[in-house]
Amino acid sequence: MAACNVNSVYSAASVSAIVAQPKLQSRTSLSRYNPNPNPKFPNILLFSSRGVDLISRRSSRTPNFLVLGSSKAEPLRVMISGAPASGKGTQCELITQKYGLVHIAAGDLLRAEIAAGSENGRRAKECMEKGQLVPDEIVVMMVKERLSKPDSQEKGWLLDGYPRSSSQAIALKGYGFEPDIFILLDVPEGILVERVVGRRLDPVTGKIYHIKYSPPETEEIASRLTQRFDDTEEKVKLRLNTHNENVEAVLSIYEDITIKASHINGNVSKEDVFAQIDSALQNLLQQRKATSGSHAA
Ligand code: AMP
Repeated sequence: MAACNVNSVYSAASVSAIVAQPKLQSRTSLSRYNPNPNPKFPNILLFSSRGVDLISRRSSRTPNFLVLGSSKAEPLRVMISGAPASGKGTQCELITQKYGLVHIAAGDLLRAEIAAGSENGRRAKECMEKGQLVPDEIVVMMVKERLSKPDSQEKGWLLDGYPRSSSQAIALKGYGFEPDIFILLDVPEGILVERVVGRRLDPVTGKIYHIKYSPPETEEIASRLTQRFDDTEEKVKLRLNTHNENVEAVLSIYEDITIKASHINGNVSKEDVFAQIDSALQNLLQQRKATSGSHAA
């Protein structure tokens, strides 16, 4: 059996084999410009308990950010990342409601594969049960195929829980998929464990509940709630370790196209967190509009 990806290290040969494929996303009128004429606009948002905080890790570097200068409005490409139960699912719902992006969650793709009973699903489950990363050879192709579908290409995408390692980011870039914005939700670990252990799913409606903070409305719903097999205290700690080991490596990939990251308190209401994300997305759209206006002039 292939081992799980315990950390972000993936053999160079395997990554280059993945990357050496034709690019699927065509890019017309590719232009290079400063992404951040407005210093309030972050390309990476970091939500944390430390409050709103602007980081400028590479402030001395000239930013490199690629945008399309085509006449047709390009759909948004958003990546969202965070520890287990950091609120990704909730924020994804709010983002897709407002922006109409196709929500692609790597974890959901893997769970669908497990439910389908495939060999890849069986291998994925072994890793997921240990709180470890599923090997790139399974995840990368799954995500790439979903991103390549016409709805993602036309409406834009919101990629949730991918990349979880630098090799995954590099592989996706090799296929021509790059985000316009990377959002990281960062919530204190104690809160995360409590959130995960109490999390329940209604298999009928797909709605997520929490036995303490967001209990089901009726006894009938309560009786059918299920718990994810990896939502136990023991497993969430392993998943948190895996997240912590890999998050910096993933961030460092996107630092190259980022001039600023802002820390925003993630332990606030979902509306407040969404307001921050929404404002960043609005800024991005406005920037694009301004850029396409100056191209047209
Ligand atoms: P999630 O639904 O995002 O909490 O992911 C559940 C589990 O699926 C993780 O703990 C990993 O074992 C696996 N998984 C999800 N996304 C990825 C990924 N991008 N790479 C490798 N494994 C993943």
